[in-house]
Amino acid sequence: MNRGLIIAYYGNGKGKTTAALGVALRAIGYNLNVCMVQFIKGEWDYGEIYSSNLLKPNFELVIAGKGFVGILDDDHDIKEHIESAKTALLIAKEKINSLRYDTIILDEINYALKLKLIEEHELISILEAKPPKVNVILTGNYMTDQIMDIADLVTEMREIKHPFKKGIRAKKGIDF
Ligand code: ATP
Ligand code: MG
Repeated sequence: MNRGLIIAYYGNGKGKTTAALGVALRAIGYNLNVCMVQFIKGEWDYGEIYSSNLLKPNFELVIAGKGFVGILDDDHDIKEHIESAKTALLIAKEKINSLRYDTIILDEINYALKLKLIEEHELISILEAKPPKVNVILTGNYMTDQIMDIADLVTEMREIKHPFKKGIRAKKGIDF
């Protein structure tokens, strides 16, 4: 009964990272400990960076990405992205196995998989070997057969409407 869950929020609609943060907020209410390791994200500003200070010591944020890969303002070589994603996965493994956290969020990891920054079999073996009580939440646009298989809870965020399509730009406190 006390077995931890593997949870995946994926899909093209908004709300994946928000859902994971919602779980964190709920858990912290019971004095549980949550660690969020962010893949891809890294070189811009968003609310979680500041919330993590307010939620100390129950919430830890590890920003391990280098920003957008191959689009917008990406001025990093793909090798740098691969290196930071591999480091993020090592950190994730350490956090998951440390038993210091009840829940570990691997934010945007599915995107890192899709871009082949990390190897799927490495993630799967980390998940298969995780301490039984630990919950792991995976987010990102994409889904793979193996993650679908191993996960206990999978929710697809499907875009119905997004203000971006009307030209409304990302909003502070809603989108970042
Ligand atoms: P959030 O962090 O807001 O929960 P998300 O994790 O579901 O979003 P990501 O793919 O991580 O989505 O994208 C992060 C940013 O992209 C957010 O600012 C979000 O509003 C925006 N975004 C998400 N889905 C869409 C979409 N379908 N069209 C345009 N922008 C989107
Ligand atoms: Mg996200």
